[in-house]
Amino acid sequence: MALQIWMDGKLVDKENAKVSVYDHGLLYGDGVFEGIRAYSGRIFEADAHIQRLYASAKAIRLTIPMSPADMLAAVEQTVKANHFTDCYIRLLITRGVGNLGLSPVNCLPSIVIIADQIQLYPKEMYEKGMSIITSSVIRNHPNALSARIKSLNYLNNILAKIEAIDAGVPEAVMLNHEGNVAEATADNIFVIQQGVVMTPTTSDGILEGVTRNLILRLCERLNIPAVEKVLQRHDLYVADEFFLTGTGAEVIPVIKIDGRVVGDGVPGPVTKRILEAFHKYVRAG
Ligand code: PMP
Repeated sequence: MALQIWMDGKLVDKENAKVSVYDHGLLYGDGVFEGIRAYSGRIFEADAHIQRLYASAKAIRLTIPMSPADMLAAVEQTVKANHFTDCYIRLLITRGVGNLGLSPVNCLPSIVIIADQIQLYPKEMYEKGMSIITSSVIRNHPNALSARIKSLNYLNNILAKIEAIDAGVPEAVMLNHEGNVAEATADNIFVIQQGVVMTPTTSDGILEGVTRNLILRLCERLNIPAVEKVLQRHDLYVADEFFLTGTGAEVIPVIKIDGRVVGDGVPGPVTKRILEAFHKYVRAG
């Protein structure tokens, strides 16, 4: 059976799941999205994702024509219709079809839900860790387009990603307008120095990752000290351990940045503990 995509209330075959070229999501990147996972048939951290989706929509003055409860039900319906127990869910709200001008006034928002598989990085990198670079592309100024909005406009991140690919690595760290560490192109950043887990604050030009927040909670459970603080690139260069988090990426160790080897060049003991706790939690809670 063809993959079923949820589009404005109907399930349609993947090849028929199409949006208009007059949709402002396509014309202007006008819209918001979420990336969610289902593990063992359960929508993972559903409330946090749905809440962030509605917050992103509010920030761009987009009214989602559906309640959060109905949205969650539609996500569950899409996963079930495709008989997935484990999958990645892409939920997008576009501004909808309008005319060729910028004004969204006459647009009627459109909702799309895709459930499919995703693998962001090669499997062996999860065991051995990956090399990354710092990008020359800085994060959008928060007063231009806040990184806290998960908008359909990811050009900022894409330019950094291209730079990573050019350098032969899968990821890049983006600094913010003040030169401090923000995040990777689609993941949050964690470093460990002398046993303390550190991650940039929500004011540092990051998306407040659902996985990030879970990792902070898991650290508390594991009695590992963890703090949100402003980090400079130097903190990454001298880190004992380093990992990235995201719904798509899950938890992936970093072993080299800008030619500097992180710790011993292999995923460290604290990272391994956190990784293990993460995988246990997503299955069992
Ligand atoms: N930062 C950016 C820019 C992202 O797009 C994402 C989501 N892929 C993340 C961080 C991680 O957020 P989450 O853990 O909620 O997926």
